[in-house]
Amino acid sequence: MGRRLSISFDLDGTLTTNRFVDSVWLEGVPGLLARKRGIDPDRARRLCMEEYAKVGEDSILWYRLPYWLEYFDLKDATPEELVSQYTSTIELFDDVVPVLETLKAEGFTLILFSNAARVFLDAEVSSGALEPYFDRIISVSDDWGMVKSNPAAYARLKGMFPGPLVHVGDHERFDYEVPLSAGVDAYHICRNRERPAAGECIADLREFADRIRGMTP
Ligand SMILES: [Mg+2]
Repeated sequence: MGRRLSISFDLDGTLTTNRFVDSVWLEGVPGLLARKRGIDPDRARRLCMEEYAKVGEDSILWYRLPYWLEYFDLKDATPEELVSQYTSTIELFDDVVPVLETLKAEGFTLILFSNAARVFLDAEVSSGALEPYFDRIISVSDDWGMVKSNPAAYARLKGMFPGPLVHVGDHERFDYEVPLSAGVDAYHICRNRERPAAGECIADLREFADRIRGMTP
């Protein structure tokens, strides 16, 4: 008997829709900025997006709400307060609970492996009641001080789960190309987006579960 397969999941855009993170970053932060500077919300949103883009998603700062509140000089809300205003927008994709339940029952080791900071990750896990499914829940940014753009993050994950390991997520580079480059098997999930014409991309978690069962000895 070989070791059982460990399965690593991205969170935002893979298990949860982006409604929640978009609400915090594209409504919550700009809303505070609009109030502070007396500008209209659309202008504040554009301003925020410009500043986010300058930092970019490969930087750990991108994920750090305290950094941004300080950057924009917004002291009216703590990160926890801001996030808590939007927890009602947290929503799981329909296939998440049935697929996690089945995979868990089949004995796979399940890992949540997200760039999201703890303040987001914990709210989503709690609201989605996801904790019982996972053997490990890792905020790559907060727990490890890394971003999944770095192959070393996947190398470290692989070291923790030395048997066969597969990762799935919606970010083509962070969740597919980078893990493959670190020697971790990976699937890119497209969700509701168009499948790239030439790319290898799976539609949803049911298709993912079928594929990985095919590779299990
Ligand atoms: Mg994602």
